Amino acid sequence: MEKAKAAVMPDFHRPLEIRQYPLPEEIEPGAALVEVEMAGICGTDVHLWKGQLPIPRPVILGHETVGRIVKLGEGLNADWTGAPLREGDRVGWYAGRLCGRCYYCVNKRQPTRCLKRTAYGISYNCDLPPHFLGGYAEYHYLHPGSAIFKLDDLTTETVIGAGCALNTAIHGIERMGIDWGDTVVIQGSGPVGLSALAVAKTAGAFLTIVIGGPAHRLELAKTFGADHTINIEEVTEAADRIEQVKRLSGGYGADAVIECVGMPTVVSEGFEMCRDGGKYLVLGHYGDAGATALNPHIITRKQLTVHGAWASEPRHMAMGLEFLRKHGRRFPFAQLVSHRFPLDRAFEALQTTARWAARKSVLVP
Ligand SMILES: [Zn+2]
Ligand SMILES: [Zn+2]
Repeated sequence: MEKAKAAVMPDFHRPLEIRQYPLPEEIEPGAALVEVEMAGICGTDVHLWKGQLPIPRPVILGHETVGRIVKLGEGLNADWTGAPLREGDRVGWYAGRLCGRCYYCVNKRQPTRCLKRTAYGISYNCDLPPHFLGGYAEYHYLHPGSAIFKLDDLTTETVIGAGCALNTAIHGIERMGIDWGDTVVIQGSGPVGLSALAVAKTAGAFLTIVIGGPAHRLELAKTFGADHTINIEEVTEAADRIEQVKRLSGGYGADAVIECVGMPTVVSEGFEMCRDGGKYLVLGHYGDAGATALNPHIITRKQLTVHGAWASEPRHMAMGLEFLRKHGRRFPFAQLVSHRFPLDRAFEALQTTARWAARKSVLVP
């Protein structure tokens, strides 16, 4: 039986280690085996490593992956959009798996909260066959029904640079809505923040302010068209950041504020940055980073609307890829890919992401 390598997280807070597992001998009808070309390291992977979500271990992390189809199961001959699919095609895929039948999938149309939702790179014990259900590996198995997308003209760096962050931002902004002419504040300059910036600008935002750091990330925010940036390493007090946002938005505060940080304390700061009748989107808290003190009076007095958005649906990934095809020149997501590591150094890659040293680290197995 042929074997292949994977970088496995044995448990929370433990170094990743290289293990070998047998490749599946048979590909089920509708399934696919993919040779991994590049796997993105998402901030969520750091949160998962810290144990902020109750996931099975050992696990192969990695939910942003591009690879080439090695073998297609019987009956799988088109991608999610209907384009013909062949062995050798370069593809990406939506990491979640939805049941399409439960209360949330059908009755309430909240498929991201599917009661049976699982996700590649998150929900599967890799000691169990088919083992290869995460991106930090030489191969990836795709179960029948996976939303696979042929990439054609899109470069691997572009797709991994945008990663799950772009789909998340599209979903979040779809829920919150941005009006033409809005002033939008984005808290956070990581991949989710930059994606939110790109989506907000194309959704009609006139003035955008990105708050984050370090400086190299804010430089990229400028490249993406941010009108103003506020460096948290220079403006260290929340009160001063709120003051700057108010000054930049005519004294009133922003129409919309998008949280893309994942630190609980920024939420109350963000409420203060909203104008009266404004809206706030909590987008960066995929991991549970704990509670924070906030004053509900502000929501009442300012008449704020607060939104949440969990991950994304396959259609958001389809929109994300279309977005990259149409706006890839304006928003050079490929430039996010800054650090490349071989599979053996996956743990180092994860640590680089944890320290915010990289724009984005990737594995090239
Ligand atoms: Zn992610
Ligand atoms: Zn469901």
